Order: sequence, then structure tokens, then C-alpha cells
Amino acid sequence: MNISILLRHSGSWESDVRYEQYISDGIVVCENISFVNLISAIKAELGIDEFKKNIEVRYVVKGNSSPLCIRNDMGVKLYIEFKKHEVGFGMYPLCIDTSDKSDEEIQNFDATTGAIVCVEGGKSDAKALTIVESKIGDSYYIPEMEVKNYISDTNISVVEVKQMYKDKATLKAVMEKYKIKNSFNFKVKRSDNKSYVLVCYSDDCCWKLKASVRKNSDIFKVRYFNSEHRCPLRDRVLSKVQATIGFVSGVTAPILGNHKRKHTPNDIITDIRALYGVEISYQQAWRSKERALEMIRGKPADGYKQLPRYIYMLETVYPNSHIRMHKSEKNEFMYLFISLRPMMRGFEFCRPVVVVDASHLSGAYRGTFVSASCILPLAYGIVDTENDCSWI
Ligand SMILES: [Zn+2]
Repeated sequence: MNISILLRHSGSWESDVRYEQYISDGIVVCENISFVNLISAIKAELGIDEFKKNIEVRYVVKGNSSPLCIRNDMGVKLYIEFKKHEVGFGMYPLCIDTSDKSDEEIQNFDATTGAIVCVEGGKSDAKALTIVESKIGDSYYIPEMEVKNYISDTNISVVEVKQMYKDKATLKAVMEKYKIKNSFNFKVKRSDNKSYVLVCYSDDCCWKLKASVRKNSDIFKVRYFNSEHRCPLRDRVLSKVQATIGFVSGVTAPILGNHKRKHTPNDIITDIRALYGVEISYQQAWRSKERALEMIRGKPADGYKQLPRYIYMLETVYPNSHIRMHKSEKNEFMYLFISLRPMMRGFEFCRPVVVVDASHLSGAYRGTFVSASCILPLAYGIVDTENDCSWI
């Protein structure tokens, strides 16, 4: 949904809630616009210099003695809520005041080289970085649609300058694999929603990666990358590259997707050694496998939570079936019995011979799967063990 907003600017506040002698203008934005984009849109519409001016955006709500100021995404959300409640171009005009940016905010940007010399140190880095990126030539809006050639696959092994990654998480995952593949370790020098800077674990090495977000998007672009190590190999080995459990389970999960294939912790150890040249312990491999299975199947308890839904669907599809689930007084799962209508009807035409058997379940909660069948299956269920209570 698009929302049209009336803008008033170049005026003055006659009282706390009266903005007078203004000039009017207007913009149309989509309802889930971010704060940064809203500010950019207003600045673009009013021709305000992005780099030299700050703007303050306020609006007046009836019955409130001071105007509300939009300072962040939450402020924008609230404003959009107001606009949705009382639809109309003239409702809740935004009053725009401009002020000069202080020198400090822009001083550590070197416009002549255009390089990002300012991402480390200093307190206004994030702002400076935004300015740098604007100067480099990004326009006001870069909708993600326009940038189609970004990388979303975390398995790529070549990292280069100018590569664009879908988001920071993707770049992070790629770099985690990169360090393991290249047998070294890095330190995260800077990591926030605007930039991501890595250096070699060894202090006097020049391996370095700098990436920062593309303006108004989630895309992270590699701005600088020096893949040469100057540190001794010994340091790299001793810095102990650790394949974390999260990482190993990420590698293992796709293999475990095929439930028929047996994949033991020892297989995982061999895989990781062959792929990345890293040794992991049996314990780590076992825990990775558990984690990976959880990633694929969810927690065992979650499966039981789905039972009521499963039963409901069975009853909808096979009306007049005999389905019972017993729970203990503490709302814990006890027994499940299912005999579907087609099974019962089929039995009428069979010789009255019923075969009953049970099989132990090996999941986290144990239990026994029981079934009764003639030529056709008749009923099945889950019980704790084959005991008198559960047979009834
Ligand atoms: Zn190094």
C-alpha cells in the first residue's frame, strides 16, 4: 500500500503545535518504508543537500501539546499507523526543519581519494561511511531488485573485491568457511549493521577484508581485500582454526537429509578432514550430527506437539474413524490409538485372524509403536511399553 504524505517546509514554529509560513510539497512512499529511506525521499524531493544538512521531521497530533518527532524506524512505523487510521493526503503533514551538519560529522572523509579511509577509529565512522558511499556514486535509491548479481550461496570459495553478498549473514558464513579452507584464523575487527572488517589473527600480518553495506539495502559489498599473509605459517597453525559445531552441522545437514543413508560421527570426521583439512573430535562430530538432525527435523518434542493437528486431519479425511489420544493429568502424552474407517471396513471381508506386533522407537522419548493387522492393516498406535494398561 502506498501512502501519500503532505510536506511542509521552510516555515517556522509560531507555537508548539503551529507551523506557519511554510511551503508545501508532497511525496508518496510505501507503507513499510524505513527511516533512512524516508529521510532520503524527503531530502530528494525538497532538494536538500544530503551531505551538508540534517533534517528534523515532526508532525502534530490533535490533543497533544507538542509535536512528535520521527527519529528512527519505530517513529516511522507509528506515523504510518496514524496515516492509515485517518487516510487522506492532508492528514498529518510532516513539518521539515533543516540544520547544518556539524564539521565533526563529515571531517574524517577524504573526498579526493574516494577511499574508505575512515572505517576504523573515530566516533562518527558510521555516518562518515554513509557519506563516503553516497559520494562514491550510489544514488538515493538502490532497490534490491536492481542488483541481481549478488551472491547468496555460502559455498563459494573465491572472495574478491567488489563482490556483493546478499546480506551480512551470507558474507559471514562464506568467511567462516574461507578461513577453515585456508587454514588460518581471523579476528573480527568491526562488525555492525553497516560494516564488517576482518584482520588476520596474527598482529603483524596484512591479510584484511573490509566490507560494508550498500546504501538502503541489505547487500554487503567487499570494498577491500588483501588475501596475502605476511605472518609465519607456524602462527597460522598455532592459532587453531576451530570448526565450530554450528559450522560442522551446517555442512552435515544436507547429507543427513536422506534418512536412508547412514552417516556416523566418524563419517563426519572424515568429511571435515577431507573438505577442510581440520580435525574434530568424536564428541564434536556427534554433537554436530545431533544439531544437524534438529535443524532438519526440529526437536523431538515438536513432533509430539503436531499430533493433535495430525489427528484432526485424519478425522477430516476419514470420518467415523476410531482415533484416541490419551494424556496424563499433567498434560503429558501417554497413548495414541488410530484405526481408520477404511481399515475397519476392510476387516469385515477378511478371515478373523489378527496379527499384533510392536516395535521400539529409538527417539528421545522412547515408547513403542504397536500395530494390528490381518491382510490389511487394522490399527496402529504409540504406547509406552507393551503392558496391561496400554493394551486396554
Ligand atoms: Zn596472516
